[in-house]
Amino acid sequence: MTVPTITLNSGHVIPQLGFGVFLVPADEAEAAVSSALEVGYRHIDTAAIYKNEEGVGAAIAKSGIPRDELFITTKLWNDRQAGEEPHAAIRESLDKLGLDHVDLYLTHWPTPEKGTFVNAWEKLVEIRDAGLARSIGVSNHLPEHLDAVVEATGVVPAVDQIELHPAYQQRDVLAWGAEHGMHIESWGPLGQGKYPLFENPAVAAAAEAHGVTPAQVVIRWHLQRGFIVFPKSSSPQRQAQNFDVFGFELTADEVAAIDALDTGDGSGRVGTHPLEFN
Ligand code: NAD
Repeated sequence: MTVPTITLNSGHVIPQLGFGVFLVPADEAEAAVSSALEVGYRHIDTAAIYKNEEGVGAAIAKSGIPRDELFITTKLWNDRQAGEEPHAAIRESLDKLGLDHVDLYLTHWPTPEKGTFVNAWEKLVEIRDAGLARSIGVSNHLPEHLDAVVEATGVVPAVDQIELHPAYQQRDVLAWGAEHGMHIESWGPLGQGKYPLFENPAVAAAAEAHGVTPAQVVIRWHLQRGFIVFPKSSSPQRQAQNFDVFGFELTADEVAAIDALDTGDGSGRVGTHPLEFN
């Protein structure tokens, strides 16, 4: 199965479908990532705060998969944005991962009350220039934060990784990305299982029409909308199911029906709002 790739503004390519490891406990991460690599995933999304980078690294080392066939993302945690801390943080993440570079390094949250996310972005630019991250981006940044980092550096993030699923589509961030050539990564793509997405008639009808599961329909919606997506599951069966999304295509009407599930008023959000995370 060939996963489509997207070319980032750095010129590097990212597999559009990956595997995320948020809330995968440290002692289960190696097994979860090993089975994901066996299924065929080549793009892994972790973060320093997930405290499972060692397990991810162990699975990578054991897999024997050539480094240039893998795409590994990790993220700078909020308490390390100030001063020169990002430089120490990326070296610690690389040590834990057992890698000499990551493919993508992200500022995890803007935490605007701290006033350090612009500094963090300036340091990420240096980290990229030092070859420790091939591409750099941000996460949970709203247009005002994106404007601030670009104004300070002239460097547009390769991606913004934001909470994004049918009920919560953050159209203002999508518009900023389209205008500036920044790609969107969807976190919580299945709504983290926190709202009845799979029973929704638009999703259920498409699943029935194509003979697939509702989760596969939602993943397919992200892909057809051009988003980069990495659903999480520790179950090898669900990992395989979530990867098996290239044998069907949603019609334009099915995509439009799922587009219409955005509540429009932000009430579909299941995670923390970026302005409230400090
Ligand atoms: P998700 O939307 O991927 O949901 C995961 C949940 O869906 C799990 O509980 C799993 O049991 C269930 N699930 C998975 N596959 C299923 C299937 N086929 N059928 C039925 N249920 C299924 O949520 P997530 O893990 O929060 O998001 C994905 C990734 O995004 C994370 O692992 C992480 O890498 C990233 N993330 C980033 C941030 C951030 O702040 N940048 C925040 C949260 C998550």
